[in-house]
Amino acid sequence: MQENCIFCKIIAGDIPSAVVYENEDFKAIMDIAPAARGHVILLAKKHCADIYSLDEDVAAKALGVVRKIAKAVKEELKADGLNILQNNGEAAGQTVFHFHIHLIPRYNDDKVNIGWEHLKYAEGEAAKIASAISARIN
Ligand code: 5GP
Ligand code: ZN
Repeated sequence: MQENCIFCKIIAGDIPSAVVYENEDFKAIMDIAPAARGHVILLAKKHCADIYSLDEDVAAKALGVVRKIAKAVKEELKADGLNILQNNGEAAGQTVFHFHIHLIPRYNDDKVNIGWEHLKYAEGEAAKIASAISARIN
């Protein structure tokens, strides 16, 4: 547990939250300021700031838990769609520096804005970046 981390306090039960799911590695709660009704955030129990510092075994388990919760959210909220979102760093919109994954139910014609302008690569640029990234993966 990290001092002054709001999610660590929620995980410890020192700050109340509406709990959706809990196991030894994760606690899923309702987001206090949701993008849509039914917006859930899945918190890793062990404090780490972001994806880069997440334990490999916790990372491997995360998608299985997200999948379970996604199905339940979709069914209960009768959502037409669902975004899985995970922000790392201020530039990416992260505001709480304790690893978490958003599950945001979506509806046809809702006003939730998770979009971007599509850029274009110059000839050969994508391949060059791909091989540079590839060389760093271990
Ligand atoms: P981020 O912007 O870091 O990806 O997401 C942080 C999320 O945590 C935001 O959507 C915000 O509404 C939510 N949040 C911040 N403080 C609290 C809190 O005290 N309780 C709950 N349930 N959610 C919180
Ligand atoms: Zn924390």
